[in-house]
Amino acid sequence: MMGLGLCWQCGVALTLNEVAGICPPCRWAWPLLPSGQASQALAALRCGAKVWGLGFRLCGARGTDAVVHRMKYGAFPEKGRALGHWMAQDWPAPPPGSVLVPVPLHWRRRARRGFNPSRALAGGLASVWSLPIHDQALRRVQHLPSLTASTRAARLSVLEGTYAATPVDDDGAQKVVLVDDVLTTGATFRMCRRALEKEGHEVLGGVWLGLA
Ligand SMILES: [Zn+2]
Repeated sequence: MMGLGLCWQCGVALTLNEVAGICPPCRWAWPLLPSGQASQALAALRCGAKVWGLGFRLCGARGTDAVVHRMKYGAFPEKGRALGHWMAQDWPAPPPGSVLVPVPLHWRRRARRGFNPSRALAGGLASVWSLPIHDQALRRVQHLPSLTASTRAARLSVLEGTYAATPVDDDGAQKVVLVDDVLTTGATFRMCRRALEKEGHEVLGGVWLGLA
């Protein structure tokens, strides 16, 4: 019999209720961030906008750090889609007429990884919420080697001008929900939002798999 493989975290044989290669008992350890709790207010404070979806807190001991790392660097776009699908089931869909816009990677980074993890996540969300994805709405206009080492202030200034949006077309402004893998300071979200609003789009808020 062809199995589904082994749980990537604990090694037991997977059954149909796996999510992105993780068995239910491993998943029950995840520090989830369900809709309507304090974590949602914290995330909203960081990004300055409405939170339309939040998966879990990043935690090394409870396995979620590894889940995000594997989604980003493991070259498994289907894991990102599965996680988006899993998350969307617990969150009400954004209003009809809104579009999902994944935060873009620079093309060089995307070429190296083979895909954009945020785009993969958006794919899973879109299938449950029945919303379109507009992945041409935003683009990176400048390559940055790494943001992780810089201070918050340095990061903000270096991010200035790194995203550009396409102007509204004949259909008019889009109601955008941004999709990204991890919410840290909210700086990336704010930059994307500014770029989109500069071109006349309306940003309703964001969705993140992990809260750092
Ligand atoms: Zn497991």
